[in-house]
Amino acid sequence: MNYIVFDLEWNQPEGLDSKSRPLPFEIIEIGAVRLNENFELVSKFSRVIKPQVYNRLNRHIVKMLSLKPGELEKGGSFENVAGKFLEWCGEDCIFCTWGNQDLTELQRNMNYYSMPPLSDGPFRYIDVQKLYSIMIDDMQQYSLETAVDRMKIVKDVQFHRAFSDAYYTSKILKLIPADIIEHNPAYDVYHLPATRDEEIHVSTSTGHTVYSRAFDSKEDILQDKVLLTLWCPVCKGRALKRRINWFNHSGRNYHAAGKCIEHGYVSGLMRIRPGEFGGFYAEKTTSLASEQEFLKLSEQYRKVPTK
Ligand SMILES: [Zn+2]
Repeated sequence: MNYIVFDLEWNQPEGLDSKSRPLPFEIIEIGAVRLNENFELVSKFSRVIKPQVYNRLNRHIVKMLSLKPGELEKGGSFENVAGKFLEWCGEDCIFCTWGNQDLTELQRNMNYYSMPPLSDGPFRYIDVQKLYSIMIDDMQQYSLETAVDRMKIVKDVQFHRAFSDAYYTSKILKLIPADIIEHNPAYDVYHLPATRDEEIHVSTSTGHTVYSRAFDSKEDILQDKVLLTLWCPVCKGRALKRRINWFNHSGRNYHAAGKCIEHGYVSGLMRIRPGEFGGFYAEKTTSLASEQEFLKLSEQYRKVPTK
């Protein structure tokens, strides 16, 4: 199996809000490296794309990418470059990216041009940004450049071009211990699970996560008995009595907590997000919690106006 570490650069129009755009971000460059099972670099990919949706380049993007005048004009069409890229990736590969946005934007652009989808359901990939946070035991999201500096990786190519960012991401991936990679898979849910049986359950080193199928509304999710059940992430089969029922004190995240007689406090976090093709889905994570974390949740729960 090959690891395809890729990065995209995209353009967005100035002064047009994201909802009124036909495409949120138009991809203008794809860069990637292919690594073998020993994480050795075996091939490179780097192509620019001639914009077809937003012809005027956002000046911040031109500056950040240090684009030469006329550089994109020489690029191929998105369908052509993306097609070549996927052909170069080969059949047996796993995508690796810094964060989760690149896979989404790649699929959105492919969908815009009616290209066949990467997959018709969720698929596993490697989120190097998340693995880096797990490795350094600090769940903040770090920029690629900060991570490169902290890992003392030699900066021999310029940042913020698709190829260089893919290259540096691959350098960081190489430094992440194999057991961290193996135990913390990420799932792309651009295409949500179609049925309850296809929902994704994944045990990671920090807890257990479920990616649900699409529901018509947020309210439907919050009434779904199976999703609301709090499981101990260690015993898995053990449903816990909720000592703190699901509540939300700010934003779209819901919290709950219980206690496993064997493993102690367990907290639940449910993020409800809009699905790409309508409806909503939940990403529910349960993890072991300290007494301090439990008390903090009780405190927040008490402050929530009458439910
Ligand atoms: Zn337990």
